[in-house]
Amino acid sequence: MDIQKIRADFPILQTTVNGKPLVYFDNAASSQKPWKVIKAIEHYYTHLNSNVHRGVHTLSQQATGAFEESRRKIAAFINAAHDYEVIYTRGTTESINLVAHSYGKQFVHEGDEIIISSLEHHSNIVPWQMLCEEKKATLKVIPINEKGELLMDAFNAMLNEKVKLVAVNYISNSLGTINPVKEIIAAAHAFDIPVMLDAAQAVQHIPIDVQELDADFLAFSGHKMYGPTGIGILYGKEKWLNAMPPYQGGGEMIKTVSFEKTTYNDLPFKFEAGTPNIEASVCLGAAIDYINETGLENIRQYEHELLQYATEKLAEVEGIRFIGTADNKASVVSFVIGNIHPYDVGVILDKLGIAVRTGHHCTQPLMDIFAIPGTVRASFAFYNTKEEIDILVAAVKRAAAMLS
Ligand code: PMP
Repeated sequence: MDIQKIRADFPILQTTVNGKPLVYFDNAASSQKPWKVIKAIEHYYTHLNSNVHRGVHTLSQQATGAFEESRRKIAAFINAAHDYEVIYTRGTTESINLVAHSYGKQFVHEGDEIIISSLEHHSNIVPWQMLCEEKKATLKVIPINEKGELLMDAFNAMLNEKVKLVAVNYISNSLGTINPVKEIIAAAHAFDIPVMLDAAQAVQHIPIDVQELDADFLAFSGHKMYGPTGIGILYGKEKWLNAMPPYQGGGEMIKTVSFEKTTYNDLPFKFEAGTPNIEASVCLGAAIDYINETGLENIRQYEHELLQYATEKLAEVEGIRFIGTADNKASVVSFVIGNIHPYDVGVILDKLGIAVRTGHHCTQPLMDIFAIPGTVRASFAFYNTKEEIDILVAAVKRAAAMLS
């Protein structure tokens, strides 16, 4: 991969912050956007803007065409068996809430169990807690070891006929752990339990094939994969989506409405009430084109090199403690230094033009397990370089010296 050419595709990487060239290592929170996506947004509003699935007029038909073409690209990207198994949402959070509400309403009852893991983002904890409270069901949590890896024996022992769903992330946003999701799905399926994968941190890093994994649901966000904000995807197997009631009522999701009775639309429209985020849906397709042109396998390999380099170089920092040292990791490095508060490190790094995330990363229960308030997290994308990591390491050493 020609990294300098790739960097030229992302205009914001040329920005300076506090008088220093921007070093953007907050990719797990949100990624930057290439010209291809930025221009697609301009193109949409310049040439296509119109509501979808409604008008007989040409512009509406063209907008609908682009909207559905993007759905086809997304389906192909994750190898869904059918385009209509791809539902547009606002983001991973809404995708998970959709399943919690709709699947939960139909299939979860008093005394049932839902399994999540210790590594989950709040958006894959709270909707299940709310559901369990409403249904008088129990939330079970897969424990982890000190490296931040799921304890698979414990997970296997948790499976029984009361469990109605397993919902786990593919890659941990806080630690970078890549979970053995294929093994999890196979074990759950042996008990006829469906599995939902939170792939918010996975789709941009590793190739995903939902059919090969046999995943029942998969959720992700456009803004973390070089696309626009306000758009997300819920993939669901046809058999589950057909068996689930609608999430929200309104336009688009109906076939016929009378005051006495409403009949619902077919998939995917049954789950897409109201005017969708048309621009972001269309431009997510442009982000996928960009990823495909670069090649996810190339991206995976290069980001792994960045991870190894950063881990090796940061280990030189006196007093550093890595949080999350799983054998199988994505390009996320989380750490604390002695008793220094992560926030203080983040402030100094920001002064030096380096964007990292500090805090609990929406995984408070996970921070509690490690008995820390939070971490400094540097998360890398394929437009980052080893030179930028050198800048980070020098800055972390400086921050540690100032704050110790
Ligand atoms: N799950 C994981 C693992 C995440 O990293 C995030 C975003 N930090 C989310 C869910 C929520 O995504 P969004 O805010 O885009 O809905």
